[in-house]
Amino acid sequence: MTTEPDTARRTGAYRAHGNEPALFEHAFHRGAPVMLTGPTGCGKTRFVEHMAATLRRPLVTVSCHDDLTSSDLVGRFMVTGGDVVWTDGPLTRAVKAGAICYLDEVVEARHDSLAVLHSLTDHRRTLYLDRAGEIVTAPDTFMLVCSYNPAYRGSLKELKPSFRQRFVTLAMTYLPPAAEAETVATETGVPLAVAQRLVRCANAVRAADRAFHFEPPSTRVLVTAAHLIVSGATEFEAAEACVLAPLSTDGAITDGLREIAAAAL
Ligand code: ADP
Repeated sequence: MTTEPDTARRTGAYRAHGNEPALFEHAFHRGAPVMLTGPTGCGKTRFVEHMAATLRRPLVTVSCHDDLTSSDLVGRFMVTGGDVVWTDGPLTRAVKAGAICYLDEVVEARHDSLAVLHSLTDHRRTLYLDRAGEIVTAPDTFMLVCSYNPAYRGSLKELKPSFRQRFVTLAMTYLPPAAEAETVATETGVPLAVAQRLVRCANAVRAADRAFHFEPPSTRVLVTAAHLIVSGATEFEAAEACVLAPLSTDGAITDGLREIAAAAL
């Protein structure tokens, strides 16, 4: 598990896909938790960082994984200097601080670890710290945000429908090509024409993905490729190393994709 400092970080700009910033704000003001869905690297984290800054709330991020326990979220007793003291976990700290708590890839966590969220995600907006004997009611400014990638084919995990229905769900995807290219150019300083070629290449591979069934190249990999190009790599080198090579370990598939990508560059 990783957590970030309890302050809204300065981040780069966020380019909205549609009405998701307004919907997020409505949810925030109504005390409703939000679930962000969409492929990896499509901007979910950047969006949450942007909204935390917009709403002037601290952001606490937890990267979920299958060993995550409810104690990792709410806290545990720890021995410090011979004393046994209760130490709040990131979720408890976020509730007490009225922060936005972002559980990234929540589908990775075990269902029983998430049970602690139930009382936080309904009208009670309350965290029950059974072991510490404490009940913490969330202030109006606390918000729970989760994300997951429902199409991730390497994972057999799914969230329970009853859990999903506790959230306002904002479905995200890649930006339209012109906006994605502008984002890659703005993020990296690469000329717009180069960013447009990278996006064309990614979209050609994304279209092929419907037949090949792998996790398609994300905006994140295009940003990384553009950074390499700014550093002096050629477009082919950057596309190969950042866009194509991570997709598949099957040489025949990569060869096929290389042809598709080369035609777009
Ligand atoms: P996710 O959380 O969905 O895996 P991120 O938010 O980490 O994806 O996005 C990866 C990178 O892609 C960001 O660091 C940013 O450079 C870029 N990016 C993706 N979408 C956007 C967007 N809508 N606006 C600005 N940058 C974006």
